[in-house]
Amino acid sequence: MIDFKEIEQSGEIWELFSRDFLQQLGFYIETPPNRGPDGGKDMLVTEELKGKFHSQRFRWLVSCKHNAHSEKSVNENDDEKNILERVQGFNADGFMGVYSTIASCGLNDRLEQLRNNKKISEYRIFDHKLIENHLITMGFSQLVLRYFPESYKSVRPIHLILDEFVPLNCDHCGKDLLEALYKKDFSALVASATKYDEDGKHHILDTYFACKGKCDKVMEARMNAKYETITDWEDLSDIAMPNQFLRWIMSIMNELSDENYIYSKDALKKQKQLIMALSQKVFREVTPKERERMLSLVQFGL
Ligand SMILES: [Zn+2]
Repeated sequence: MIDFKEIEQSGEIWELFSRDFLQQLGFYIETPPNRGPDGGKDMLVTEELKGKFHSQRFRWLVSCKHNAHSEKSVNENDDEKNILERVQGFNADGFMGVYSTIASCGLNDRLEQLRNNKKISEYRIFDHKLIENHLITMGFSQLVLRYFPESYKSVRPIHLILDEFVPLNCDHCGKDLLEALYKKDFSALVASATKYDEDGKHHILDTYFACKGKCDKVMEARMNAKYETITDWEDLSDIAMPNQFLRWIMSIMNELSDENYIYSKDALKKQKQLIMALSQKVFREVTPKERERMLSLVQFGL
């Protein structure tokens, strides 16, 4: 999904990306990326660990490695030498790697060993998959737009359109279905309980969102029992395509102005939620200027 090669090989931009990424995750950047004579030092970040009675600052030595162009894993011999000395030298508690590929088995073993021997308190590796998982979720779209403009066009990460995020969860298990849209092996649907009268009227009684399979079965059975009718369904990933999204909105508008289609209050409310939630993926990013303009329009009641 995200092509990490969009960031040039030199590594400096990767370090800036890593800084912005960790900042977005809530880490405090103590020293920004710095290529000093000490070589090994990339960045120091801290996080506040909140206990019930006591809070503590945890300091990470962050190493950023951009091997996406060579497609090589980050290993302990060439890329990450002297881990312990580096962590101790900067009074850090733990070691963190931000990698555009993965950590080699040898590096993982080495870190595991350092932790088990209590030489370092903790280690954490953000590899390309883990970073990608974060980038498609709410709050990271600006970062994708800035550092991966080409990937942004096809991925369209979730972003804020209105003032508040509009969620789209499975009505049975609560799973975030917007996030699920990015995973190929998982799919979700929207379904409506509809009753067809003999005089040709369609009553759309209720609408639900669900994971395909078990959750859908449970919801369908619930609808059948409640309304004694069947459900129509459509794939959420289809409606999330710009052309289908427009078709979906148009067909609802057509039905609302057609006396043969009668939407219940609940069903219409769900349809509105669906459109607002999906627009956070389908629409392009709102620019700061547009956000400002929207606020002034709201202020003057336009
Ligand atoms: Zn579910």
